[in-house]
Amino acid sequence: MNTPKLIDDEGCCAICGSMMELEACHACDGEGGHHDCGEDTCACADPEEITQFCSECDGEGEYLVCMSLPHSEEQIEAWRKKEASA
Ligand SMILES: [Zn+2]
Ligand SMILES: [Zn+2]
Ligand SMILES: [Zn+2]
Repeated sequence: MNTPKLIDDEGCCAICGSMMELEACHACDGEGGHHDCGEDTCACADPEEITQFCSECDGEGEYLVCMSLPHSEEQIEAWRKKEASA
């Protein structure tokens, strides 16, 4: 399933038009992923190396969130309709 685009072409929130701000990813604590080489006892030269990129932030460690969260039901509904007709 494709994630609907939440950021418009100007880099603002596609739902309400507010500015977006960067927030550290909660899923990976801003690390962008974690090290998972499949070994119980990791013997890698670089045990900090990220081998599993975080799916929440695509390995960025941060993502843009709308500064006006939460959105109202009306805003989300209007945005859904716009997305559906696009
Ligand atoms: Zn918004
Ligand atoms: Zn993440
Ligand atoms: Zn390892």
